[in-house]
Amino acid sequence: NFAERSQEPVSGAKVIAQALKTQDVEYIFGIVGIPVTEIAIAAQQLGIKYIGMRNEQAACYAASAIGYLTGRPGVCLVVSGPGLIHALGGMANANMNCWPLLVIGGSSERNQETMGAFQEFPQAVRSSIYGRPGACYVDIPADFVNLQVNVNSIKYMERCMSPPVSMAETSAVCTAASVIRNAKQPLLIIGKGAAYAHAEESIKKLVEQCKLPFLPTPMGKGVVPDNHPYCVGAARSRALQFADVIVLFGARLNWILHFGLPPRYQPDVKFIQVDICAEELGNNVKPAVTLLGNINAVTKQELASKKSLPMNYYTVFYHVQEQLPRDCFVVSEGANTMDIGRTVLQNYLPRHRLDAGTFGTMGVGLGFAIAAAMVAKDRSPGQRVICVEGDSAFGFSGMEVETICRYNLPIILLVVNNNGIYQGFDTDTWKEMLKFRDATAVVPPMCLLPNSHYEQVMTAFGGKGYFVQTPEELQKSLRQSLADTTKPSLINIMIEPQATRKAQDFHWLTRSNM
Ligand code: ADP
Ligand code: MG
Repeated sequence: NFAERSQEPVSGAKVIAQALKTQDVEYIFGIVGIPVTEIAIAAQQLGIKYIGMRNEQAACYAASAIGYLTGRPGVCLVVSGPGLIHALGGMANANMNCWPLLVIGGSSERNQETMGAFQEFPQAVRSSIYGRPGACYVDIPADFVNLQVNVNSIKYMERCMSPPVSMAETSAVCTAASVIRNAKQPLLIIGKGAAYAHAEESIKKLVEQCKLPFLPTPMGKGVVPDNHPYCVGAARSRALQFADVIVLFGARLNWILHFGLPPRYQPDVKFIQVDICAEELGNNVKPAVTLLGNINAVTKQELASKKSLPMNYYTVFYHVQEQLPRDCFVVSEGANTMDIGRTVLQNYLPRHRLDAGTFGTMGVGLGFAIAAAMVAKDRSPGQRVICVEGDSAFGFSGMEVETICRYNLPIILLVVNNNGIYQGFDTDTWKEMLKFRDATAVVPPMCLLPNSHYEQVMTAFGGKGYFVQTPEELQKSLRQSLADTTKPSLINIMIEPQATRKAQDFHWLTRSNM
């Protein structure tokens, strides 16, 4: 019976335990005494594991390690006075390690009047795990623990959400990628921040794709296994001393890393710092690039902007999306170009995407783009039309470029050129293929002439044409095309001829949504 149950008196200790349970606290380490014993008992009754230790310091160390291992704070339960003072060592250590921790101390005097005080739990949990993780202390007055209140007078705050994932500034991501690419002796240092961020998968990918030697800090060990061929742990001093570019993934340039200073490092070594804590950036050394954000997310950003050449679809669309005006029309056709483009290029307005449509028609793009440009011109001047074409698709109605130029419609045509339908060949393979035989006998039906300069179709009629092979060229030509509202342009973007879609991964559909 609800009415009866809601009248039931419940102790402050139970309320505290329930508040912890609601925050998903799994473990409490501590030493009980007046007034916190009841809290420990109440917690146990709710299924929270209580581990009684022999000194608050050890209890606090244990609780902080739970925070590091699980991402939710472990709780250290202590009495006031000496208990709290012993716990300080653990709190300081947690703070220095950037590990979330919740310390609950029972103090003697009541300094809060209402149960509203328990709302401090989600706040405490939040400040322990958000931003740079660290220790948090909640002080609970003694008479609070034994207070009897009506069940219905209590409102538990919801479990505090996991911290939002922050990403680094895109321009910094690009700069970092180019600094790494130009490095002669790059070195990745993997710290416990990377471990805490669960960035193991993405960092391993980065190590392998960019062939980067790495050095784990003591607790960064195992993020990428120690026996990985790129691990240079055995040559630590040498690696530090001779690196010309060092990427710090969640590791601070403190004593553990010899402050990042000579003679342990090159005087002109370039540091790229990845950290979630802005205050950490630029400590001891002036970094070449700072990436403020969650390590896992930033690593993924780096992977996405990876400047291996030739570019692939994802690299191209990543850079296009970055500059795409929110209100632009996106017209698109092609096979992979249209399919992959659709997943990366964002639309924010209805009726602003036109593509091959129900019939899957190739050759509609330029006509659609011209129509969109007319509508934009007459109804919302300044609005841009971006027409994203596969090289094969462009061929179906490429001569409409003349129409575009005749009416001077500032359409931006992107031809994503892989030398073929679905896939093509590079110039060398092409030459090899034609060495002995007639083209009609050996050229695969999907292939188109490699390295075709489609941009010259545009320049032929007075528009702007760009032939781009690198992300930098792509960014620059796109910027110029968007800035020029008076002329159409065509950017011919050369990509890896064999580039295809990523293997589809439906994990997110099957994994339980916890
Ligand atoms: P190590 O001892 O391995 O060198 P440090 O404790 O010196 O590691 O550095 C860890 C760094 O990781 C801290 O500067 C902290 O701000 C950062 N950090 C913690 N969690 C994250 C995260 N999720 N994303 C990015 N940086 C993080
Ligand atoms: Mg914090």
